[in-house]
Amino acid sequence: MLDFLRTRLAQGTRTSAFPGEAPEFPERFRGRPTLDGARCLGTCRECQAAMPSSLLVVAPDGRASLDVGACLFSPEEATACPHGAISFTADARLSARDRPGLVSETGELPAIEALGRRMQQLFGRSLRLRSVAAGSCNGCEAELVALGNVVFDMARFGIQFVASPRHADGLVITGAVSRNMRDALYRTYEAIPDPRMVIAVGACAINGGPFRDSPEVGNGVPPDLPVDLWIAGCPPHPLTVLDGLLRLLGQLDGQSAPAPKA
Ligand code: SF4
Repeated sequence: MLDFLRTRLAQGTRTSAFPGEAPEFPERFRGRPTLDGARCLGTCRECQAAMPSSLLVVAPDGRASLDVGACLFSPEEATACPHGAISFTADARLSARDRPGLVSETGELPAIEALGRRMQQLFGRSLRLRSVAAGSCNGCEAELVALGNVVFDMARFGIQFVASPRHADGLVITGAVSRNMRDALYRTYEAIPDPRMVIAVGACAINGGPFRDSPEVGNGVPPDLPVDLWIAGCPPHPLTVLDGLLRLLGQLDGQSAPAPKA
């Protein structure tokens, strides 16, 4: 018993200091992508052909932008551009209140507007979420489960996952919404009492991710489900999810980002 206590004391606090301190990520972490407009020709199309996702969007007039929601955060998305226009930063903040908010000419994302006063009063200190894996690879679920461990400890902010949608305040959707899961997803949404929120997590839920345009999936959350928060990533880091949720609940101000990678 004494050995156990000594070991536990030696371990100290393992919980992340986030949001009090900016998180540190390993060197190989790939955060928000960025586009250097001076290097992107916008007309060569070489990178679009080599890219494993629809991260780069080129308008008919040649104007290029990044769809962060479509990003798979793979090294190939950066190396696809022979001019080195696309790179990854160490910024783990990857959320937006609406789908267009994930698309920009530089990869920068707008500040997240918190829920209205009434919703903040209801959920700001206690938020229960029901998660539905609607045809995902389970990568996103693994990161959502990690939110409950001692390092990320989402419960310290009053946010928890629950088993029954009838006990939930919101729906977290992962996966590209396969045909087999579509009905279950709608029934879960309808079982959550009003007012409720919907949170789309991961590239699959946002636009189908690597399964995009498969006849078995619906390219993400159906348009008639009102999404309150879009969290990009493949999968998103637990702190990316936590950051988005806290900003939605109005518990996190300030948008200072970690420095881009050299
Ligand atoms: S977004 Fe990526 S990690 Fe998440 S379910 Fe889809 S493929 Fe898996």
